[in-house]
Amino acid sequence: MAQPVPAGSDVSSGTYRCTNCGNEMSVGSTKHLPPCPSCGNGQWEAVSGGDSVHDPYPDS
Ligand SMILES: [Zn+2]
Repeated sequence: MAQPVPAGSDVSSGTYRCTNCGNEMSVGSTKHLPPCPSCGNGQWEAVSGGDSVHDPYPDS
């Protein structure tokens, strides 16, 4: 169950999809998600890996 992650959030490495245009972006060591480079949207959905500061189910 993925929640949108706002740009600027601290995230783990993984793949994120823009909730507006569907653009996917892989995040490596970057800690802060940038706005979407395609449309400027500031909301991302975690596709694989990664997580958000709002993750309700931490593994630890
Ligand atoms: Zn976009």
